Amino acid sequence: MTEITEQHLLEKLKINFGYDSFRLEQQTIIENILAKKDTLVIMPTGGGKSICFQLPALFFEGITLVISPLIALMKDQVDSLKANGISATYYNSSQSSEEQQQVFDAIANKTIKLLYVAPESLPLLQNVLNQNYISCVAIDEAHCISAWGHDFRPSYKQLSFLKKSLPEVPIVALTATADKATQEDIMQQLAISHATRYVSSFNRENISLEVRPANDRVQQIIKFIQRKPNESGIVYCLSRKATEQLASKLKQNGIDAKSYHAGLSFDERAKTQEDFIKDETQIICATIAFGMGIDKSNVRWVIHYNMPKNIEGYYQEIGRAGRDGLPSQALLFHSYADVIQLRQFISNTGNQEVQEAKLERMKQFAEATVCRRKILLSYFGELIGENCGNCDVCENPPTFFDGTVIAQKALSAIYRLQQKEAMGTVIDFVRGAKNAAIYDKGYQNLKTYGVGNDISWKDWQHYLVQLTNQGYCQIAFHLNNVLHLTDFSKKVLFDGGKVQLTTPVEFKKETKAAAKERKAKAKRTPTAKDTLFERLRKLRYSISKEEDIAAYLIFSDATLKELEIQRPQTDDEFLAISGVGQRKLDVYGGEFMAEIRTFINEKKRGKKDTTLETYKLYQEGFTIDEIADKRDLKAQTIFSHLSKLYLEGKDIALDKFIDADTLKLVANAKKVLKDEPTLRPYFEFLGEKIPYELIRIGLTILQKKTL
Ligand code: ADP
Ligand code: ZN
Repeated sequence: MTEITEQHLLEKLKINFGYDSFRLEQQTIIENILAKKDTLVIMPTGGGKSICFQLPALFFEGITLVISPLIALMKDQVDSLKANGISATYYNSSQSSEEQQQVFDAIANKTIKLLYVAPESLPLLQNVLNQNYISCVAIDEAHCISAWGHDFRPSYKQLSFLKKSLPEVPIVALTATADKATQEDIMQQLAISHATRYVSSFNRENISLEVRPANDRVQQIIKFIQRKPNESGIVYCLSRKATEQLASKLKQNGIDAKSYHAGLSFDERAKTQEDFIKDETQIICATIAFGMGIDKSNVRWVIHYNMPKNIEGYYQEIGRAGRDGLPSQALLFHSYADVIQLRQFISNTGNQEVQEAKLERMKQFAEATVCRRKILLSYFGELIGENCGNCDVCENPPTFFDGTVIAQKALSAIYRLQQKEAMGTVIDFVRGAKNAAIYDKGYQNLKTYGVGNDISWKDWQHYLVQLTNQGYCQIAFHLNNVLHLTDFSKKVLFDGGKVQLTTPVEFKKETKAAAKERKAKAKRTPTAKDTLFERLRKLRYSISKEEDIAAYLIFSDATLKELEIQRPQTDDEFLAISGVGQRKLDVYGGEFMAEIRTFINEKKRGKKDTTLETYKLYQEGFTIDEIADKRDLKAQTIFSHLSKLYLEGKDIALDKFIDADTLKLVANAKKVLKDEPTLRPYFEFLGEKIPYELIRIGLTILQKKTL
């Protein structure tokens, strides 16, 4: 191999991936791999691991073998590469023997650069697992090999043979989650103990962090979503039932949501996941079973309806938002009841102490009064000096006040109740509630009953949680969660100790008028404004339908945003956009630039029906190319206008554009494919010989005949 310079790397990065610069440590990692050294990459979700092995693959003589655990997602990864003009394929047990043979041919002829395979299928590739064919092995989700990791998969065990069968080939192991012990274990299992290790920062600056008390969660979620029409999001719930209930409540409010959990059939789950990836379903209410390996880059927000059981899980789940680097939100609802429930789960499993400690850290995060990102990162051993400025605590720092009297009232109540009652009854007692919990035990006769009735129930809860956090009292989880006093309590009760508390954040109750407006709004489907971004998003969606690939694989939201701002009008300008490589310019540039021009023109002279303009020119006798030229659109776009007009019953001789034989081929395909609605299967069925626009015309004519 001739020497590869930084310039070469940057050129490929732009041409094949559309990006202008490397992120984090991508470049040094790539250089290390190109130097044929074994490599371990620990990078957060969305950090950009794929390019680390995909880009070197373009320089290697042979194939880069990519081990990936999820068959369901291989197609997306391969589609993404193909959309960038890189030849790649996958091999798995769900393929027909014919398809598998094609893969073998591609390997033998070295016509592909990357081959994706699940570990289970590796034995079937024995014949080609040698250095004549394989130049590099990348192991994605490498933590699955380690029993120390949180997602051990026995099928990963066999990967230890790779180094033996391919001693000269560099092995790259990549994962987003691996503590020190797991990292060591990965390297040992793969027999790459000398590998260069790259551990990137876990900070995902673009994800804003927020925690709210879990009052009226559903209503809060509905409001949150209504402010974000068309934005993809995930709501994580603790139970299957909760995912279903929430999804149905959202639907009642006109929000497009589906539930996902392990109780659904395999097919249902696959369909839901696919609909989400393809922007067909906006929101998924899911248990933690959802999300592993999903690369969808335009997830704009993640909500935790319930508190997760540890920070690792929380961080992995919120990491699914904002892979494209655009601002994204993570919202966690914190409830005392959740903590108690999680405790109960833990007490039924092994490894109790560790899990309890982890839950405690999670709870501290949720109840923090300092920058949340600092807490999060310090958990992963990373220290940041400055406050982040992108979490709720940074944005609304809590105000402290002298809460000594409040603390005294609460602690003496615990004392009077002989440390035998849980938080709810303690609050009832200080507030002087007249309910069974109080009267049955005669608590109304005790001293200090009702001394705190000037403070609301929720505010008392807020104060008691803070008192436990600060160690002035504690929850006896093993004794039905009753509140106990501590050494600190004594200081406050008897030694004049002072206590600082924070003011509860106000969550305004919805007024009647606001509720009415919300319900009315729910009946109208939320519509986004007519911005250029929305137009480009729609265009992207319609292309994704035709090509049967996920919309975000065509262009990410970040790229659409840049197109909206830069409004490129020439190929050079279009190519300069981040996320646009050579193939994407060639294939999509025309249509997107046409959409941008149409938008600009429309704004200039008020709206006009674009298809009608085409129709007018058509009637005047201009050819397709002339119309395209005059309107500054692609011929392909003009054809789609004509098809639309034809279906509407306008007088257009569409059959002039397609010969009888081609029409017959399309008709036959239509029969075989059982009226498949997307174009790509036709294109493939017809041996990729008939251009998309002709297929569309053929189908339009056939459709009209049956109308
Ligand atoms: P990971 O596998 O680490 O979770 P991906 O490889 O899927 O992350 O990358 C996340 C997103 O970031 C993708 O949309 C990818 O195209 C984008 N990306 C990767 N590298 C760069 C870069 N150098 N510049 C801009 N975007 C990038
Ligand atoms: Zn912060």
